[in-house]
Amino acid sequence: MKYQMNLDYSIPPGDLAPYFEALQDGKALASECNGCGNVAFPARMQCGACCNSDIKWKPLNGTARVLFRTDGGSGSFALVKFDGADTHCTVGLINPERNTTFGKLAAPQGDAPGLWLALAEEKLGERR
Ligand SMILES: [Zn+2]
Repeated sequence: MKYQMNLDYSIPPGDLAPYFEALQDGKALASECNGCGNVAFPARMQCGACCNSDIKWKPLNGTARVLFRTDGGSGSFALVKFDGADTHCTVGLINPERNTTFGKLAAPQGDAPGLWLALAEEKLGERR
């Protein structure tokens, strides 16, 4: 069975507008909980650790460590931890030919949604 489904929708950024605006410039803007200090990237308006909604913005440098990656016909993706964040997230890899475990957030790739990571060269990838 094969079905075709087309969706045309938009989600207003709301209170997360600063996060999405930074993302368009390839910058990582995290949320930091004023209750427990948990830092989330991607940003969220409610702390995932203590459910507090008292949040402030925290710029990160955008570097991330690859924890796991998968490569397939539809692209290469990785579970990463951005430096300075307490959370993990998935990203698309814009240069999967590099087999390093370190990279930096990249601006969105065309109309493709989501977070994108540019893998660093070997020397940077070995940084601890
Ligand atoms: Zn918290």
